[in-house]
Amino acid sequence: MRKKSLFDYEKIVGGEQLENIINIARPLAGLKVQHINSTKTGGGVAEILGNLDPMLNEIGIASEWSTITGDDHFFEITKKIHNSLHGRDEKLTSDDFAYYRETVSRQEKVLRPGQDIYVIHDPQPLPLIEKRKKFGGKWIWRCHIDLSTADKKVWKRISKFVGKFDAAIFHSPGYTQKIDIPQFVFPPTIDPLSDKNRKLSENKIEEVREKYGIPKDVFVLLQVGRFDLLKDPFGAVEAFKIVRDFFPVVLVLAGSFAGDDPEGESVYRQLAKIIGNEKKVFLLNIPVSSESPLEINALQRISDVALQMSIREGFGLTVCEALWKGVPVVARKSSGILMQVIHGINGFIVRNPRGAAFRINQLLSIKGMRDRMSKAAREYVRTNFLLPHLIQNWVCCFHAVRSSRLSGINEV
Ligand code: UDP
Repeated sequence: MRKKSLFDYEKIVGGEQLENIINIARPLAGLKVQHINSTKTGGGVAEILGNLDPMLNEIGIASEWSTITGDDHFFEITKKIHNSLHGRDEKLTSDDFAYYRETVSRQEKVLRPGQDIYVIHDPQPLPLIEKRKKFGGKWIWRCHIDLSTADKKVWKRISKFVGKFDAAIFHSPGYTQKIDIPQFVFPPTIDPLSDKNRKLSENKIEEVREKYGIPKDVFVLLQVGRFDLLKDPFGAVEAFKIVRDFFPVVLVLAGSFAGDDPEGESVYRQLAKIIGNEKKVFLLNIPVSSESPLEINALQRISDVALQMSIREGFGLTVCEALWKGVPVVARKSSGILMQVIHGINGFIVRNPRGAAFRINQLLSIKGMRDRMSKAAREYVRTNFLLPHLIQNWVCCFHAVRSSRLSGINEV
């Protein structure tokens, strides 16, 4: 497949923004940047890095993406850290923190010597910062989590690593904690030209519908997401059980297991048990493969309403993906989603499954409302959450971090 060029996005976002990016990136030509996270497959961070890295290279920044590894125990610990930074109560011992730190520390080989900037994504690879003296360069922590309700004890331990970075990046100003390093604020984005989001032929869409046996003459509700308690697919089932009394409707729960999330299989099993023989709920485990983005894309395109019942959501790329396809989103009030769903304009924010059912009923009853929201949904994403916006933000951030004249919160 031909490599994508920044100018392939011209028809979508306009030429002026692309010219700007090229101009501000020019002085950074040859800058060496290494991104490090903890999985190449599954979840939003892998999705973002898969799109970001090639495009940074395209504009002259020598960007590469690497991952740390770990055993099951390591990922159980990091999942608990992730959950507790999202505000969930988890038991973490000093031994757990020692194991976490040692596992990461042993992976110094993942760091490429001679980089200008090392970008560490999320808490899993954070302890790599202890290698900064040896490797030099500038260090950025890209946090994809809303830290505003973080467990205090866990944050205290994590912040010891964070405080050693040159800067941190959050999705929203409200997500940060008190830290004495400069902070940038910009949201993630989706790539409108990726297999996950590009236009699909009717044939492809129908092929996927048939593959999964989803009927044609009914409304389709869809929740996409890793099988994760925080995404509350159970809430989606609860809402569906109310709506099915009023409309011919099916619920599709499409998910997969991420390499760094050990909880997925048990959540999947619990879901399968709850769904039982209910023929109108399609529980689809779609492992990440070269075909899976096209399949998620097609499922989003056959849906009438997308659900995201997440209790916590750093951002929730799946929301953006559905909106981009013109699908109104009914979502629980969680911080990442509030950046994307404008209540009554491109979807609805609800408090619980009953509220979701009420709004779904409203949307399914009134075609005019669905059509109006569909247009607004696509336009909101077009102007805020597409890959060129992200490239521009990263380039500005690289300039600032390199120049070292940073202070306070810098919203780029
Ligand atoms: N995703 C996918 N297949 C799945 C589940 C999720 O491709 O079965 C993708 C989804 O389309 C999105 C990303 O994984 O691009 C999930 O990102 P999000 O920010 O919604 O959630 P996270 O997993 O990072 O919490």
